[in-house]
Amino acid sequence: MPIHILPPDVADKIAAGEVVERPASVVKELIENSLDAGATEIRVEIADGGKRLIRVIDNGRGIPAAEAPLAFQRHATSKIRSAEELEHIATLGFRGEALAAISAVSKVTLITRAQEEPVGVELKLEGSRIVSQRAMGAPPGTSLTVEHLFWNTPARKKFLKSNATETGHISKIVTRYALAYPEVRFSLVAEGRLRFQTPGSGDRMAALVKVYGPDIASQMLPVEVAEDPVAPQVRVSGFVSAPTLHRANRSHIELFLNRRYIQDRNLTFAVVQAYHTLLMTGRYPVAALFIDMLPELVDVNVHPTKTEVRFREPSLVFRAVQRAVHRALQGQAPVTRELQTPGTPEDYRNQWAARRQALVSAGKAEPSPGQLAMDLYRSELAGREETPLVRKETPETPPPPLASQTGGDRLPPLRPIGQIAATYLIAEGPDGMYLIDQHAAHERILYEKIMQAEQQPVPKQQLLQPVPIELGTQLAGLIAEHLETLNQSGFEIEPFGEGSYLLRAVPAFMGAQDPQSLLEEVAQGLAQRTDLVGKAREEALVTMICKRLAIKAGQILSVAEQRELIRQLEACENPRTCPHGRPTMLHLSAAALEKQFGRLGA
Ligand code: ADP
Ligand code: MG
Repeated sequence: MPIHILPPDVADKIAAGEVVERPASVVKELIENSLDAGATEIRVEIADGGKRLIRVIDNGRGIPAAEAPLAFQRHATSKIRSAEELEHIATLGFRGEALAAISAVSKVTLITRAQEEPVGVELKLEGSRIVSQRAMGAPPGTSLTVEHLFWNTPARKKFLKSNATETGHISKIVTRYALAYPEVRFSLVAEGRLRFQTPGSGDRMAALVKVYGPDIASQMLPVEVAEDPVAPQVRVSGFVSAPTLHRANRSHIELFLNRRYIQDRNLTFAVVQAYHTLLMTGRYPVAALFIDMLPELVDVNVHPTKTEVRFREPSLVFRAVQRAVHRALQGQAPVTRELQTPGTPEDYRNQWAARRQALVSAGKAEPSPGQLAMDLYRSELAGREETPLVRKETPETPPPPLASQTGGDRLPPLRPIGQIAATYLIAEGPDGMYLIDQHAAHERILYEKIMQAEQQPVPKQQLLQPVPIELGTQLAGLIAEHLETLNQSGFEIEPFGEGSYLLRAVPAFMGAQDPQSLLEEVAQGLAQRTDLVGKAREEALVTMICKRLAIKAGQILSVAEQRELIRQLEACENPRTCPHGRPTMLHLSAAALEKQFGRLGA
C-alpha cells in the first residue's frame, strides 16, 4: 500500500485510544475538567459500569455557548496558549485532547451555561460530529453525558470487563479526587444508587473517613507538613497507616502531586522503606500522600493520561517523602483516636456495664455479649460521625431449640460463679465444678451457630456504605470459591471486579474488627490448607472465622455476659470441645474433689 495520510476519523479514533482506555478514563478526564472549571460540587452518575452511560455534572464556570463546539476539537483548550506555559501548569488539563477523544468513541451530550450568560446550550455529538445544537435553560455549570462508549470501536469494547469491575475502577478514581479535593463535594451514583459522597467541607480527615470508612480511618496517622531543611521546595502531607494496619500489596499507597494522582514506583518504595522493620515482609502500608511543589520542578507532560511525571530532582522528592512518613510513624497518634475503645479493661468493663444497664432499664431482655458488643460499638460511632457505619442490626435471636434432647454430650444446667484471670469461667453443675475457657467456648458457640445457619440465619449487621475489599487475585479467588459459606456466616460479600469485593454486611458479633484483615487472614489460612476439599474445607473456613470473632482470653466479662456465654454453651450440641478439637472445659466431679481432698471414706 502506498503511503497516505489517514482520514481524520481514523486518526481521531487512534488518538482517542491513548486517552480513553475504559469508562474510568472518561470519568477521570471529566472530573479534571470540572475541577479546572472551579466546581465545588461534582456529581458522577454511571449505568452499566459506565459502558452505557457516564454523566458528570458540575457547578463550575461553564462554557460560553459560542465556544462550546470548539471544545470538542483536538488541541482545543482554554488552559494554555504557548509552550512556555507548559513549564508551570496549574490546571489538571492542558492538552486539549479529552473531549475530542471522548466524543470520537461515544455519543456525547453537553449541556452547559457559562456563569455570565443568561441561557445555556445543548450540544449533541456522535463520533466527533455535532448532530444537534440548541439554546437551553440550564443552571450555571456543565453536565456532560457520555453514552455507549466504544460503540464505533468494537475491538476496544471487547476489552471492557464486567460492570462490577468497571464500576470498581470508576469508584477508585472518584474517591481519589475526593481525597485530593476535600473542599469539593463529590457524589457517585451507580445504577441509580448513591455509592459514595463527601461533605466537601475542606476537611481532608472528613473525606478520609468517607473514603476509607471510620474503622480504617481511625488507624491512619497524619503526615503533617513540616519544613524539611533538605528539601524546602517539596511539601508532603496526608495520611499513612499505623503499623497495625497493612495490606498484601502496594496498591493502597496513593500518591498525589500538586493534587494530581500520580504513579511513581520510586516514591512508593520510599513510603514502604519508611516503615522499615515495622511491617512483616510481604505486607504494605495504606497511604494517601500529597506532594506539593512548584510546577516548574516537575514535568507532567510525559504521557496522555498524565499519571506519569518526571521530577527535576527525583532524589530530593524521594527523601522528602521518606522523611515525612518516618516523622508520622514516630508521632504515632492515630488521626481519629476518639473512635477507639479506651484501652484498660476497667474502662471497657465500665462501659460495658453501663451499656448493659441502659439496655435493661429500657425494658430489653438481658442482652447477650454479642448484642452488648455491637451496641457499644454502635454508640461509639453514633456520637462521632453524622452518618454511622451501622445502619441496622438484625436482633440476635436465641439459639434454635435443641435438635435432639438426648444429645449425649450436652451440658447440664450450670450455675456461673465467676471469672478468673480474665480467661476462664467457673461454674457449678449437679456433678461438680466446671472450668471453662471463654475463648474456646465462644468459638464452639459461634461455630454451631454458623453451621446451623440454614435453620436459623446468623445475625448480621448491615453496613451503611458497602466497604470495598481488595485482596489481590489469588486470595480473591479463594474467597470466590467460598462465597456461599462466608455469606452463611453473616457476611454479605459480592464480587466487585478483579481481586476485589464489596462487603455489605458483617456478622453481628463481629464488633469493631476490621473486616478486610479478617477476610485476608481467612483467605491466607485457606491458601495453606491445600489438603482439604469439599465439606472439610468449608468447616475449616468456618473454624477460622470463629477463631477471629470469638471473645478473647484477657477480656473481662460481666456477670451477665458470663451467664449468657454459659447459657449458649449449654445449648451446644458438642459443648466440650472447640472446633479445633481442644477442650472448652475441665470438669472436676464432686467425687474427684473429695478424692483430691482426701475426704473419701473420711
Ligand atoms: P483540556 O482540559 O486539556 O483543556 P479538554 O478536551 O478536556 O481539554 O477540554 C477542552 C476545553 O473545554 C477546556 O479547556 C475547557 O475550556 C472546556 N471545558 C471542558 N469541560 C469543562 C467543564 N466541565 N467546565 C467548563 N469548561 C470545560
Ligand atoms: Mg481536560
